[in-house]
Amino acid sequence: MKKLLVLLLLSSSFYACAQKINRNQLLKDVETLSSDIYEGRKTGSSGNIQAANYIVSRFKNIGLSFYQDSFKHPFTVKTQKGPVIKGTNLIGYIKGRTDHVIIISAHYDHIGITDSLINNGADDNASGVAGLLAMAEYFKKHKPKNTLLFIAFDAEEMGLQGAYAYIKNPVLDGKRIKMIINLDMISHNDKGELYAAGSYKNPEIKSVIKGADKDTGVKILFGHDDPKLGRNDWTMQSDQGPFAQDNIPFIYFGVEDHKDYHKPSDEYQNINADFFYGASNAILNSTIKVDKRLKRIKFNTDSAFQKTLKDKMIMEKDQ
Ligand SMILES: [Zn+2]
Repeated sequence: MKKLLVLLLLSSSFYACAQKINRNQLLKDVETLSSDIYEGRKTGSSGNIQAANYIVSRFKNIGLSFYQDSFKHPFTVKTQKGPVIKGTNLIGYIKGRTDHVIIISAHYDHIGITDSLINNGADDNASGVAGLLAMAEYFKKHKPKNTLLFIAFDAEEMGLQGAYAYIKNPVLDGKRIKMIINLDMISHNDKGELYAAGSYKNPEIKSVIKGADKDTGVKILFGHDDPKLGRNDWTMQSDQGPFAQDNIPFIYFGVEDHKDYHKPSDEYQNINADFFYGASNAILNSTIKVDKRLKRIKFNTDSAFQKTLKDKMIMEKDQ
């Protein structure tokens, strides 16, 4: 009986240690970023600037390094009319041992105030930013093999403008970037499902991140990346899009749209804390696997058309 008790204690403490993220900090970050003081974080608003300052203070606190002279990467937002709006991406990094770079990104802007109601965007995308900060915290303590570039993008909700601005004005040689892992809406799903899009063009991603969701309570599903899906192809629907257009392999982690999507009800109290914690751990586990194997992954840098040809060749070989 005693033996059994010891075993039980051991296994439960092992389970608790198996998760690598500080749950309290993760929830504190998402709660803070989605609070009313940031007024829905619309690009150009004072709430957005204050949210950026909070993220910069977290970058400093975690101990990220910056390129040029600060974490801030300003750009001019294109608008059809009205005054000039300034956007600001926030960029920090952890140096690895190789020359290769993996971008980990999440947009921090949201849609601001509509009909006098604040859209706090807890899931979209305070959750992704909190997940990004948790990953930065982990890799600061567990040195990555490759350099990790953490980017909190601005102006995603205005047509992925922060991501386009980064590509136009990068902080390092674009050839060094081997992959982008983007987080956008990772805290709200009633079925426990998190999508990893990006394996349509790079099927090897499936085997690389296999098992990353183990013991997290979340299930990683693949999909939403086949051009034949039309609107259900998410490739161009968040900040990985401009990078995909540049032929950079991506994994986009996100959930299916839900009832609170782009509504004032996308609030902290409406996210699923357990799902969010599990999803963040599953994304971190995936990133650890990608970082370890990056050099050996054979990415498909051909056009989609050439990929179809390749599939055909494999099918013919099977027959
Ligand atoms: Zn979003």
